[in-house]
Amino acid sequence: MKIIYCDNNSTTQVDKKVLNEMLPYFCEKFGNASSIDHVYGNELLPEIKKARESIAKVINCDFDEIIFTSGATESNNLAIMGTVEQLKEKGNHIVTSSIEHKSILNVCQELEKRGFQVTYVSPDKSGVLKSEDIKSAITDQTILISIMGANNEIGTIQPIKEIGIIAKEKGIVFHTDSAQAFGKISLDVNNIDLMSISSHKVYGPKGIGALFIRRGVKIKPIIFGGGQEGKIRPGTYNVPSIVGFGKASELVSLKNQELIKNLTMNLYDRLSEHVQLNGDLNNRIPGNLNLFVEDVDSKALINEVKTSLAISAGSACNSDEVTPSHVILALGYDDNRAYSSIRIGLGRFTTEEEINKVVNVLIPAIKKLRNL
Ligand code: PMP
Repeated sequence: MKIIYCDNNSTTQVDKKVLNEMLPYFCEKFGNASSIDHVYGNELLPEIKKARESIAKVINCDFDEIIFTSGATESNNLAIMGTVEQLKEKGNHIVTSSIEHKSILNVCQELEKRGFQVTYVSPDKSGVLKSEDIKSAITDQTILISIMGANNEIGTIQPIKEIGIIAKEKGIVFHTDSAQAFGKISLDVNNIDLMSISSHKVYGPKGIGALFIRRGVKIKPIIFGGGQEGKIRPGTYNVPSIVGFGKASELVSLKNQELIKNLTMNLYDRLSEHVQLNGDLNNRIPGNLNLFVEDVDSKALINEVKTSLAISAGSACNSDEVTPSHVILALGYDDNRAYSSIRIGLGRFTTEEEINKVVNVLIPAIKKLRNL
């Protein structure tokens, strides 16, 4: 029996249309896009530009405000380290939140060791940050605000539009890690200076992402090499993946997200008698459910259903750690709730039939484990 994939917040399968678009760039159009003295390099420049344009369209920016990276982890590192390096004479304070991805939190922790001050704003019980709390955290030393577009564990959508306005009023650089929001909700970089995104969350290949850098916003590079990407992110262009990310961006559709949302709500309705929701029911990205299964150890449940369903206990980036989810704890819950919560991530390829199977497998498994 096929194991039903319900971990689309962790990663998504490459859409076949994306794969087909990428294939010619391995063995035929394989040139180095910086070797522009001959056709092998030259022919790739329009393709890279086209990919930038497709990505830019999704977030309403210009193609030349997109630079390619290896993924959102690198984009987050570049955005934060690059900004503080640029502005460290101006101030030493950063505002972020306690529910960010580890690729933000661990950079901030490193900066604290280097003498920067960081304020970690906490969300309300439903996992949503309040823009007034971000505003209150600002000091005359604040040089950067970094708040995610949507949370990767509990799916909650954050008020980045409002925070962008606050940051702009105060003249503070505003970065958002929108790896989970990109392609799932309507995004616009108006009042945002820096935005991290990742291809593998939207049915593109892994190992490619981008950082939107608003024209005029200056950041320092964190790696050094050749002249690619205006020297902000040197390294030979990963053309097959860039083309794939471009195609994946062309294929994102908010209409499709409506269908995913309906499937998610349908699933939640049928499970709700047995579980409690973490996060906000309405203010969340389509596809994500994070469920507290009282009196059931999440790892035991995942193990119990693993021959039928692929679900997770939270972020894949933390799954080698035995600590409880920092996101569930940040909502004000105890370790017990964190150790008994599972994440279900539905996606473009999830079917109604699969939802029925999820219900039919999960409910008996929960009952069984409760009765042990
Ligand atoms: N930020 C968020 C919110 C994410 O969900 C992820 C992926 N788990 C990342 C950053 C890291 O992205 P990547 O895998 O592209 O490095």
